[in-house]
Amino acid sequence: MPTCQNCHQKWSWTTAFKRTVWFNGGMECPHCGAKQYVTKNTRKRSASLSGLSSFAIIFSALILDVSWSGLIILAVTIFLIAMIILPSAVRLSNEDEPLW
Ligand SMILES: [Zn+2]
Repeated sequence: MPTCQNCHQKWSWTTAFKRTVWFNGGMECPHCGAKQYVTKNTRKRSASLSGLSSFAIIFSALILDVSWSGLIILAVTIFLIAMIILPSAVRLSNEDEPLW
């Protein structure tokens, strides 16, 4: 789980989840109120994860000849797994790091 860089308290999954969905700008720590930002690495990782999952879906459609309903189930499953995993992979920083 992400840890606040100001008070070093761990964030709950729900807070981290909100942070994952609300990607831009900072978010206040629920424990100390300090603004926290998602690190550059976390943003890069989630970007490559979404790229990878889109690739998996396209790959299954082209190579494995999966039916439309199969593809939708696959896409929803990947999306749900990502939503469960991503919040715990979020790392926080006291400063907003530029992506490049
Ligand atoms: Zn804090």
